[in-house]
Amino acid sequence: MRRIAIIFLGPPGAGKGTQARMLGESLKYPRISTGDMLREAIRRNTAMGRKAQRFMEAGDLVPDGLVDAIVKDRLSRKDCGSGFILDGYPRTLRQVEYLDTLFENGPIKIVALGIKVRNEVLTERLAARWTCSNCGKIFNAESTPGIEKKRCDECKGPLVHRKDDSAQVVEERLKVYHEATEPLIDYYRKRGCYREIDGEQTVQDIHGTLKRIIKALKQPEHAVIR
Ligand code: AMP
Repeated sequence: MRRIAIIFLGPPGAGKGTQARMLGESLKYPRISTGDMLREAIRRNTAMGRKAQRFMEAGDLVPDGLVDAIVKDRLSRKDCGSGFILDGYPRTLRQVEYLDTLFENGPIKIVALGIKVRNEVLTERLAARWTCSNCGKIFNAESTPGIEKKRCDECKGPLVHRKDDSAQVVEERLKVYHEATEPLIDYYRKRGCYREIDGEQTVQDIHGTLKRIIKALKQPEHAVIR
C-alpha cells in the first residue's frame, strides 16, 4: 500500500478541521493542522509563535518558510509513514511546490479534498464557532447552550471564540483565501487528484462521502497519482 497524502482545501469555516479530525480517526492517520501548531507555539510563547502572532491576528498568512519548516518536521515523524492528513497546508502555490519536494523520496498518492461552502454561510458559521484552546476541536455556539462555561468533551480544555473568528478578521481571511489559496484547486485539478465536496451537507454526510473517496483511492486498480 502506497503512502497517502490527504490535503484539505477550503475557506475558513468550511469544516476542514472537523472533517480532517473525523477522517483521521477513521483511517488512523495523523491530522496535521498548521493553524493548531501555530496557536500552540503562540500559547507557549516560542520564537516561532512570536513571529506568527501578528499575521494570524490580522487574518493574514504567516510567511511560507515558517509553516514549511513545521510541516517538514512533522511529516518526518514515524506516524506519517502510511498516510497523513494536512489541514490548512498548503495554502499558497509556493507551499505546494515545497510540499512536492518533501514527497520526492518515495511513492505517494495525493488527494486534495475541496470543501465548498458559500461565503454568507461561512461568515455565519465562524461567528458561532468556538474552539477548544487545548486540542482544537470545534464547537458551535448555537447548538451548545451556555458555551462560554463549557469545556471540551474530549480533552476538557477551555473553549474560546478565536480572535481571528471576529467579523473583521474573517473578512480578511476570506479575501486571503480567495486570492492565495483558491488557485490551488486548479493546480490539483490539473494533476487529476482533486475531489470536490458540498460542504453544506450534514457533518455525517460529508464524512461518509470523504470515506468513500478515500476507499476508492485505496483500490489497487486506481491510477497511481505520483
Ligand atoms: P487555521 O486554523 O487553519 O484557520 O489557521 C489560522 C491562521 O494560521 C491562518 O489565518 C494563518 O494566519 C495561519 N496559518 C495556518 N496555516 C497556514 C499556512 N499553511 N500558511 C500560512 N499561514 C497559515
